[in-house]
Amino acid sequence: MHPTDLTPFSPPGTDEYAAACAAFQLAAPVDPAGAFTARSVGDVVRAVATARRAGLPLRVHTTGHGMGRAAPVAGALLLRPLIDAPVRVDPVARTARIPAGKRWSDVLPAAVAHGLTAAHGSSATVGAVGYLLNGGISFYGRRFGVAANLVRSITLVTAAGEVVVASAAAHPDLFWALRGGGGGFGVVVEVEVALVPMHRVVTGMAVWDAAGAATAGPAWQRWAETAPREVTTSLRLLNVPPLPTVPPALAGRRILVLDGAVAAETPADVERAEKVTAEMLAALPEPEFSTWAPAGPETLPLTHMDPAEPIPFRSDTLLLRSLPEAGWAALLDAAGRSELLSVELRQLGGAFAEPAPDGGAFQRVGAPLLYWACGLPGERTEADLAAVRAALAPYATGFTAPTFADHFGQPQRTYDEAARARVERVRRDVDPGGLFAGDVAAIRDR
Ligand SMILES: Cc1cc2nc3c(=O)[nH]c(=O)nc-3n(C[C@H](O)[C@H](O)[C@H](O)COP(=O)(O)OP(=O)(O)OC[C@H]3O[C@@H](n4cnc5c(N)ncnc54)[C@H](O)[C@@H]3O)c2cc1C
Repeated sequence: MHPTDLTPFSPPGTDEYAAACAAFQLAAPVDPAGAFTARSVGDVVRAVATARRAGLPLRVHTTGHGMGRAAPVAGALLLRPLIDAPVRVDPVARTARIPAGKRWSDVLPAAVAHGLTAAHGSSATVGAVGYLLNGGISFYGRRFGVAANLVRSITLVTAAGEVVVASAAAHPDLFWALRGGGGGFGVVVEVEVALVPMHRVVTGMAVWDAAGAATAGPAWQRWAETAPREVTTSLRLLNVPPLPTVPPALAGRRILVLDGAVAAETPADVERAEKVTAEMLAALPEPEFSTWAPAGPETLPLTHMDPAEPIPFRSDTLLLRSLPEAGWAALLDAAGRSELLSVELRQLGGAFAEPAPDGGAFQRVGAPLLYWACGLPGERTEADLAAVRAALAPYATGFTAPTFADHFGQPQRTYDEAARARVERVRRDVDPGGLFAGDVAAIRDR
């Protein structure tokens, strides 16, 4: 091969290059030296060999939801594994084999058909592999913990071009590091994950005018701290754009929204889930309206109203201790002055907080609250995010949940010193030449 022959990667300006570079996060430049969509494990092996021979770094993405998290891709080769194989559910073992490139929207119908579901996040357009490799914070998380703890095996192509299946039984150190270790271990081509029984979920949203947040926010936190673990919620201040697609009652308004899920794993659990929902709403001021009601688990990804189409955004995140009165006042003041589209607190605790003996590098979140906010890219958003961060800084734990870190420039810290050293040791063993070094997310220790 000629040293500049980058086959099977396509050069800039071609349709193949554009298709392989397509990313949900439009604010991050996607300008690699060549790009390739791999449809098979053989394609991935070929791509790894080319990158190694050309001496170019190899980067991996599937949907590009987290495109801003790792270093810019300029100068690297970009591989997009969209493996041409179906999601395979084993209803007896309660597992799903998910080929790289599948989104949660590809997994859910196959699982729900058997009375099962996956510990997916708020959006069904997120890629299952990228979510699970980075931990995964689900609306089922207070019941089942960090989603990566449900992973049973991971098949990847290493920098040496070998196909390796990592599990508790084989390559256990690599299996540990892959689950939340921050990327840069190889190209994952399949993940096997445990599914959970789910008959119905009680889900929906309760809406208040943002002016009610000073009362509703602290009341939600008081309820959240002792809530049963089958419920996981999100409280958001939303700046609703005045768009024709938005219901007129909400368009152009600042509102407070409570959404999430109460899990009803069996038919016998539905009544209790409705009671838990009623108790949650009774602990809060009367909302303008509430749509919380029992529904099929396949509808849960609609609850949070995440955008389905690619958008440019800038965001920030922190894990927080419980907010005292002064913390709520500072948060609501900074958020209220901002033009941020969303300022969110996710309810953690429950199984999120518990150690998982067989878990990976990121297996639990000790903090009770996860903060995430976003806006359109620009100076105003940078200033708004900085103001909210400053308001919350006294309550930050100093750690971050990896899936919510969207920006390479933002310092992140996911694990303690011992875990960080172990992750780096595994990474050196599996990729001694640093072929995938650019894929290491900014979730390094500070
Ligand atoms: C609208 C929206 C809603 C979200 N909701 C949630 C939520 O509720 N809970 C939550 O935890 N997170 C949530 N996220 C964050 C999301 O889970 C992470 O950004 C996740 O990493 C995206 O994975 P992806 O494969 O879709 O994205 P990509 O950008 O394609 O991948 C992200 C990273 O994963 C790695 N990766 C992906 N595929 C492979 C592969 N085949 N082999 C090796 N490495 C790979 C790479 O390091 C890549 O940089 C949300 C994000 C958005 C934009």
